[in-house]
Amino acid sequence: MKRVLIANRGEIALRILRACHELGLEALAVYSDVDRNARHVTLADASFCIGPGPVTKSYLQPGAILAAATAMGADAVHPGYGFLAENAEFADACTEAGLIFVGPSAEAIRQMGDKAQARRVAGAAGVPLVPGADIADIADLERQLPEMSFPVLMKAAAGGGGRGMRIVERAEDATQGYMEASREAEAAFGSGVVYWERYVRRARHIEVQVLADRHGAVIDVGERDCTVQRRHQKLVEETPAHDLPDAIREQALSSARALAKGVDYLGAGTVEYIYDLDTGLLHFIEMNTRIQVEHPVSEMVSGADLVREQIRIARGDPIDPMVVNRTLNGHAIECRINAEAWRSGFVPSPGVLSGLVLPGGPGVRVDTHLTVGSEIPPFYDSMIAKIIVHAPDREQARLRMLRALNELQVEGVPTTADLHELILSDPDFASMNISTKWLETRIDDYQVRPSDAA
Ligand code: ADP
Ligand code: ADP
Ligand code: MG
Repeated sequence: MKRVLIANRGEIALRILRACHELGLEALAVYSDVDRNARHVTLADASFCIGPGPVTKSYLQPGAILAAATAMGADAVHPGYGFLAENAEFADACTEAGLIFVGPSAEAIRQMGDKAQARRVAGAAGVPLVPGADIADIADLERQLPEMSFPVLMKAAAGGGGRGMRIVERAEDATQGYMEASREAEAAFGSGVVYWERYVRRARHIEVQVLADRHGAVIDVGERDCTVQRRHQKLVEETPAHDLPDAIREQALSSARALAKGVDYLGAGTVEYIYDLDTGLLHFIEMNTRIQVEHPVSEMVSGADLVREQIRIARGDPIDPMVVNRTLNGHAIECRINAEAWRSGFVPSPGVLSGLVLPGGPGVRVDTHLTVGSEIPPFYDSMIAKIIVHAPDREQARLRMLRALNELQVEGVPTTADLHELILSDPDFASMNISTKWLETRIDDYQVRPSDAA
């Protein structure tokens, strides 16, 4: 492997480019018209335009990306996250074109990408499941109603990014919830298949980072807590999971490794769970077969470079012994900074960055592709930067994050940075007295704070 094509944009494209260069590999960029001057493009060893701004005409076009790979002489493709990262046909197409796909086999992507099937595979590997079942059609749903204990969550089998889910409180609303979830999933993912799970009212989101190589090693790089969410989407992530009972942590880590073994996993992946605060039980929800947005917190406490490991594993190397023998030190927190007017319904707010001052100092890492004058196009995800901090313990990390957020200045577009300051200084967050619904109940309080007037 000498030349790696990066089939992505934004901060993750730059993140992958950095790992390639540190490994002595050439990094090849693809870009849409509007990303022509992006930082990962100017730093790339070669670059290729794959179409206009809209994702369906560029970053979601496997043919255009494969043509770019041929034109630039790539021998591997790193898909990043989002876009084609969990598209099994794309993984197959890369392999057929003689390219190394930096990720697991298309078969593992397929199995885990269908979340209903993933439940079955996970159950067979001994991973604890939340009660639930497939739904073949409305008649099948009606047959199952007597067995369902409400509330239930209708979930799109092809879902991701928190979309295609409906909470149903009562049996009489089940059909409507099912149909709404199905319609939304059909539109977003091209598949209307929906399954149900018991809805856990007071939950923490716990997930495990796994790595597996071609030599039989399957390891975990600890867990992450991503409980701070809005509409099932993560805003703040941290590691380790504060005050999680040791037995639950051990159960999460060992069943994540078992699942990775069970699907012959290769590379970096994440097994996601919810931890029911009322019953004290841990339940599997899904596996993401890619690098995740929040991978840096695991890197901070382990010293591992997870993207480097992904690439090394893909070319056949064993996991670096330094990573296998890692110890996890201190506490890390990440805040996702989005270009959104969060006080007015989290409306994405593209525009030109007229000013940008990034935080620095001890224990602070910023993952962003932006510089002063950068344009944030309207076509893509609104996440523009990630602030990551590392400190000896959670309280010091929390204070360090507040200090870093205070240093951050973004001019030209509204961001969620001030929302993160409210979250990080909230006593509920400080004492970890939160569940996945917590932020949605707090946001109204934040929006009416007197400081808003300023
Ligand atoms: P999930 O929310 O699916 O569990 P992550 O937290 O890792 O997983 O987030 C992945 C999400 O990031 C995608 O669903 C997508 O909305 C978003 N995304 C995809 N590509 C990009 C990108 N290039 N830059 C920023 N965000 C992206
Ligand atoms: P996605 O593929 O969109 O990332 P997930 O299955 O990972 O979907 O779920 C995303 C979030 O939705 C979880 O972090 C959690 O907050 C919530 N969630 C998912 N399943 C359940 C459930 N059975 N009960 C309660 N909350 C759930
Ligand atoms: Mg998920």
